[in-house]
Amino acid sequence: MTQQDDAPRIRTEHPAPDIARIRLARPAKRNAQDPALLYQLDAALAAAAADTRVRVIILAADGPDFSSGHDLAAPFELPGPPTATLEGDFDAPGVEGHLAFECEAFLGLCRRWRELPKPTIAQVQGRVIAGGLMLVWPMDLIVAANDATFADPVAAFGVNGAEYFVHAFEVGARRAKELLFTGEPITAEEAHAMGMVNKVVDPGELENATLELATRIAARPAFGLRLAKTSVNRSQDAQGMQQAVDTAFALHNLGHANNLARFGTIIDTSAIEHVRRPGR
Ligand code: ZN
Repeated sequence: MTQQDDAPRIRTEHPAPDIARIRLARPAKRNAQDPALLYQLDAALAAAAADTRVRVIILAADGPDFSSGHDLAAPFELPGPPTATLEGDFDAPGVEGHLAFECEAFLGLCRRWRELPKPTIAQVQGRVIAGGLMLVWPMDLIVAANDATFADPVAAFGVNGAEYFVHAFEVGARRAKELLFTGEPITAEEAHAMGMVNKVVDPGELENATLELATRIAARPAFGLRLAKTSVNRSQDAQGMQQAVDTAFALHNLGHANNLARFGTIIDTSAIEHVRRPGR
């Protein structure tokens, strides 16, 4: 294991009273998500949730890109006990163990983060690819630099898309299909026009604009914010979001099972160039 691999993946800052800013701190790997990053992020979010001084949480990222997605070089192994679910038997053969891992480390964490009882804001620059969307979409608000792009090219891996499958809720059904069928990224301005992003700013303004928004929100009563957040989440659930995500997650793992049966690996790597160089 290299020194880089041992380095912390997450850093928490307190840039203003009432605000915690958690940063993905693995820029040399374009903030690729290995299990260590996911669970360090989970611990940082849990600490900010429990900290009575923190009223709003910003999720930011070091380097030119917010996140390049899952770190495919890292083993699918939890770095410690599960925190989102009571899943176990992660070493079971076939897709049984891998399904348990994805239930806990991908779907379980995303759902846990979505329900964090304080406002959360993703501060996004550069590329957000596939698994990267699973860090952005569970947040309440998204502020993007105008160089930000959002892509999910993993249909080329023989699965449907990233495991937290809220694509149609985020960008609408037709745009979601185009995103998934072509693998081409959505720009920050396009994402703003379709309601996926709250605000687009120049890259040099990203940090200040996000902090200013967080500070405005933090000045309002925390309990009202919590009630508002939960009410919007339940509104999405009433539209079938939870069931849709569960169905897509089952299909995603059908894709993994098919790939395992045909190729011996949970992803089909025969068209990996379509994943590495998505679209325009
Ligand atoms: Zn998967």
